[in-house]
Amino acid sequence: MKHSISKSEQTPTVLEMTDVVKKFGSKHTEVDALKGISITVHAGEFVSIVGPSGSGKSTFLTIAGGLQNATSGTVLLNGADWSALSEHKRSRARFESLGFILQGSNLVPFLRISEQFAFLDHLRKKVIPTNLDQLLTSLDIDDLRHKYPKELSGGERERVAIAKALYNDPSLILADEPTASLDSEHAFDVVKLLAEQAHSRQKAIVMVTHDERMTAWSDTTYRMRDGELVKAA
Ligand code: ADP
Ligand code: MG
Repeated sequence: MKHSISKSEQTPTVLEMTDVVKKFGSKHTEVDALKGISITVHAGEFVSIVGPSGSGKSTFLTIAGGLQNATSGTVLLNGADWSALSEHKRSRARFESLGFILQGSNLVPFLRISEQFAFLDHLRKKVIPTNLDQLLTSLDIDDLRHKYPKELSGGERERVAIAKALYNDPSLILADEPTASLDSEHAFDVVKLLAEQAHSRQKAIVMVTHDERMTAWSDTTYRMRDGELVKAA
């Protein structure tokens, strides 16, 4: 399932982070959450970052996604520097270029699955051109349209969350522990689907997890430890 490095290097660079430092607090309370990390992610590449709780994984994702600023270093999304964009342009870039998959999935409880997507069209004030039938079929959830989130299993909910993240055709998807609430069999299925979607749709997908076993399908694996990021051999 591994793709050669040379293949991913021929495809466009989507995310490029260089010497990123993130400090929280000041003086006695100062925490160095990220200690100068660098990473490059290409279109079609599925990257896993494994590290224990508190190692800086969520901080990394929020900075990669422009939700907060780095203390120093640069973060480029499709070549544009997050820190150089106005707040308005940042939110537009998030809207157009990013998909987030958050822990426990981000489904609206009182909307049927089909309505979750109609609601995204409504938020954008336009019908998103992604082929929803094909998207739902590729994630094997097309027969769940009429159900509410509480009627779904954990694995089905995560797959709907993946579909929502892919729906606006983003170039980068950031997934924070998407398998944390699943048993290992369903967790493996979800990670495999993420890898397949990265490859078939040429998306850059970065998943962070504390679970070593979830790296089986990644093209590139990194380890995060105490705010330091190292490519796994
Ligand atoms: P992980 O996602 O790997 O569990 P986090 O990125 O959430 O790790 O946290 C990394 C470190 O940064 C931890 O020591 C955490 O307490 C600290 N941290 C994260 N966010 C904040 C914040 N907003 N204010 C202060 N410290 C924070
Ligand atoms: Mg976290």
